[in-house]
Amino acid sequence: MLILGGTTEASRLAQLMASRSLRAVLSYAGRVETPRSQPIQTRTGGFGGAQGLADYLRAHQITHLIDATHPFAAQISQNAAQAAQMTGTRLIRLMRPAWQPGPGDNWRDLPDLATAAQMLAGPPRRVFLAIGRLHLADFTSQPQHDYLVRLVDPPDSPLPLPNVTLEIARGPFDQATDLALLRRHRSDLIIAKNAGGAGASAKLSAARELGLPVWLIARPALPEAETVSDPAEIMDLLHADLGV
Ligand code: NAP
Repeated sequence: MLILGGTTEASRLAQLMASRSLRAVLSYAGRVETPRSQPIQTRTGGFGGAQGLADYLRAHQITHLIDATHPFAAQISQNAAQAAQMTGTRLIRLMRPAWQPGPGDNWRDLPDLATAAQMLAGPPRRVFLAIGRLHLADFTSQPQHDYLVRLVDPPDSPLPLPNVTLEIARGPFDQATDLALLRRHRSDLIIAKNAGGAGASAKLSAARELGLPVWLIARPALPEAETVSDPAEIMDLLHADLGV
């Protein structure tokens, strides 16, 4: 089994695989300096596109490819779908459902980060930009705002925005922590990817508590794939396939 990881769900699946002594490898892109330690073998770094991944699947005689990457990691999911097709490997996507608004939420769904950046034109605001590190440059067109940015590792180069309050922390986060963070920064808006799952949802309940608006970026389209949302379902599928 090869698990494409970088998510809480992938780590949970690795635990389940280890508890059944299954031979599985967990793959990281290598974006985080010190990933969590795992109870199964890990590897780090890109494969070299769909072809490189297909080569890896063949070389390591992978029978099941589990795409447990983040819902916004569209390139690797595309590669996984292609590589699975090229090699005839069974592909299962493990992906948490998108967040849905509930009573008291003041959410606005946006198609992408570029739209969010355009909509920020106007007087200065205090924005919790909860989008990770890679796409901060999309907001350079709106330097007038005071941004709160939370990252797992301290950045190794200056961030592309002039007014940033930086918070270094690794999830999962709880509501009390996120309430305190939003109050400390005096945020008046949250911009976040609709990642789904529990580990990053505290900011949404904190926003509800404070009556703050949230702009949620919709997930990118991914190729068709058999999809489950719970790591335990993968174990059931493997049991049906392999009797393990
Ligand atoms: P991406 O744009 O979909 O992928 C870019 C390239 O990174 C891929 O083409 C692949 O390189 C390599 N890659 C991505 N995930 C990999 C994995 N698990 N193992 C080996 N190589 C991988 O991905 P991204 O959005 O930069 O995300 C990178 C990683 O961070 C993913 O593993 C994802 O689960 C995790 N993550 C992403 C987000 C997010 O918001 N995007 C949030 C939390 C965690 P090659 O083509 O060379 O194989």
